[in-house]
Amino acid sequence: MKQIAILGSTGSIGRQALEVIRSYPDRLRATVLTAHRNIDLLEQQIEEFQPLLAVVTDTAAAERLRARYAGKTRIRSGPDALVEAGTVAACDTVLTAVSGAVGIQPTLAAIAAGKDIALANKETLVAAGDLVMETVDKQGVALLPVDSEHSAIFQCLDTQRQAEVAGLVLTASGGPFRGKTKADLAHVTRADCLRHPTWRMGPKITVDSATLFNKGLEVIEAHHLFAMPYERIRVAVHPQSIVHSMVEYVDGAVLAQLGTPDMKLPIQLAFSYPERWQVVQETLSWEERHCLTFEAPDTDTFPALTLAYRVGRTGKSLPLVMNAANEVAVHAFLEEKISFLQIYETVETIVQRHRPQALRDIHDVACIDREIRREAKALLSIE
Ligand code: NDP
Ligand code: MG
Repeated sequence: MKQIAILGSTGSIGRQALEVIRSYPDRLRATVLTAHRNIDLLEQQIEEFQPLLAVVTDTAAAERLRARYAGKTRIRSGPDALVEAGTVAACDTVLTAVSGAVGIQPTLAAIAAGKDIALANKETLVAAGDLVMETVDKQGVALLPVDSEHSAIFQCLDTQRQAEVAGLVLTASGGPFRGKTKADLAHVTRADCLRHPTWRMGPKITVDSATLFNKGLEVIEAHHLFAMPYERIRVAVHPQSIVHSMVEYVDGAVLAQLGTPDMKLPIQLAFSYPERWQVVQETLSWEERHCLTFEAPDTDTFPALTLAYRVGRTGKSLPLVMNAANEVAVHAFLEEKISFLQIYETVETIVQRHRPQALRDIHDVACIDREIRREAKALLSIE
């Protein structure tokens, strides 16, 4: 029985992970669950999965749950509770499915405690990639990608033949604004942005998909996960979201992983690996006619991708800075305080101002992250 801690069980990835766990009651157990604001859903999940530990951000909500589940599920809250969730002795695997850099500390703690990681929370790898990968190597744990593109590459990449790999091709849906011009983007709304054509995801990543920052974060994520230089990572826009990504070999062969756009496959594989288990989601139908198209990204309209490559190549603290500024700007956009185009403008301004410095440890990460959030909020004149 694999015992799993789900950090962010009330989110889009968290809920789909619980669907997978529900399909395999003899093999998987949700031992730890965590939520931020959605206490009602967490409570339903506690009722159904009876975890050892449940974590909420809000202390008052924790009090209420504690009274109700005394003697059954331990309830924790407070700043260290997510770290505790990632390091529970009974768990072997931690699914990091919180949104944003809040995942960094619990992920590092989980790795240090010897847990295998099913990584959905890409912001952690972008912001603290060198630190995370060093800790993974030191602890000898598995870091299994849940992001669909990285799961695809993981499935196609023959790590024994690294020298024969020419490069990686990350596919991108292009988001809801593919084909639009910069002028069109000046007036798009939150609702336009949240209408993603192929994937149903949480709000932050959906906005990232619209700006193409998501693909930029994924390029940096791929660089760390697969030790791949940036010049060998390319992006192809593939609006059908059926080819999840590809690996090119030196002889010109291209290996791809295909499937329906459904996160349950990469989530399940991260739990079952090295085995493959019976499918739980809908599969591709070969009776239908599929048209698969690929094109270059429009980086004039969506400059976030170019910025992310530049930031990734510079490294040091710059990816952390780009990520923190983007999180602040995306949240401000979601709260309808700034326009869509201001997201990129904010991130670019903050990135330009920053002098990259080495990240020695988690304290450096936390300190710069905090400072940049303050700076981005000041720039936008928000709280
Ligand atoms: P959601 O917004 O749907 O869920 C986020 C989860 O994190 C929720 O459980 C939420 O709790 C919790 N959370 C949010 N803020 C905090 C906080 N400050 N402290 C503690 N917990 C918090 O996001 P997604 O599931 O879409 O994405 C999760 C991660 O997975 C992201 O890093 C994303 O980039 C990545 N990912 C997602 C994909 C998808 O298809 N959704 C695909 C590939 C990667 P609550 O809901 O209770 O407030
Ligand atoms: Mg992805």
